[in-house]
Amino acid sequence: MTKQSSVTKEKVLFGKEQNPSNILPQKLTLDSKIKFRCHPGVKCFTACCGGIKIILTPYDILMLTRRLEMPAHEFIGKYTTPTYLENTDMPGVMIKLREEDDRCPFVTPEGCTVYSDRPSACRYYPVGMADFHEGGTRDADGNEIPGGEDKFFFVVKEDHCKGFEEDKEWTVREWREDQGVDVRDEMNREWLRLVMRRKSFGAQAELSRPAKRMFFMASTDLASFRRFVFESSFLDTYIVDDETIEKIKNDDVELMMFSYKYLASALFGVQTLTIREDKLKAKINEMKAKQQRSVMKSIQDYEQMKQASNA
Ligand code: SF4
Ligand code: SF4
Repeated sequence: MTKQSSVTKEKVLFGKEQNPSNILPQKLTLDSKIKFRCHPGVKCFTACCGGIKIILTPYDILMLTRRLEMPAHEFIGKYTTPTYLENTDMPGVMIKLREEDDRCPFVTPEGCTVYSDRPSACRYYPVGMADFHEGGTRDADGNEIPGGEDKFFFVVKEDHCKGFEEDKEWTVREWREDQGVDVRDEMNREWLRLVMRRKSFGAQAELSRPAKRMFFMASTDLASFRRFVFESSFLDTYIVDDETIEKIKNDDVELMMFSYKYLASALFGVQTLTIREDKLKAKINEMKAKQQRSVMKSIQDYEQMKQASNA
């Protein structure tokens, strides 16, 4: 399998790389027709399950850990390897391929052993979606300006994939329904937006190490994120209504959606969560004191420099 194909399954998840040669140039809509079918009878069956980079979203990890009845930290250690997302400094994980044959640990000659819970990238393939709403831009004051909706679909056509030689024709909408990607779209959207935001604004500031650690923890291990919410000063800092608290206590999907809001607020200053006023004031005072200390230090340094040059 070529290096190009290793880009492909990541490509289908994020959908925003510069036109690799195996991406057909047409912009498709939900009603566009594609001729494609993948089934155990194709000559290339499971050819696309090796030599690939499959990024896992938080929902992918949740579904796979439920399927394998394994805690997230164990799953992450056994089946994944760390990576950076979309050439940013945001840490994530991808499936760790088998050392002996460079193939996905879930593939067998009979097919995918986790098929109904397979990751989003595997579901989307070979039809990707580009959503240019994800990144947004900032005005002169650094406030986010949401981009206009500009969503389209595209087909990734690789030489080894014989599914395009099958005579099944359907619309992109029908293909997506068949693959069950609508739920994935919904579950992944805000997380993908976090990554695309970072990609859009990346050069302006570096994410701190604690911010990166928090993003990684919330994105890969919901049990740890739940402990962070309920066993730290989190609920003393943020205003969270009782209904939400009840939901996120026991429901992993609700907690995951909540984690996206928290990350948008903590990492990008998006107004998705409200900080309690007393905490906000304390934070502002702390920042003012820090700024004051820094000004005083600069004045002292300057005075010392002056004295030294006059001596
Ligand atoms: S998870 Fe399943 S579909 Fe995806 S690469 Fe692995 S074996 Fe193939
Ligand atoms: S037809 Fe394409 S998607 Fe299906 S197994 Fe073959 S390479 Fe993979």
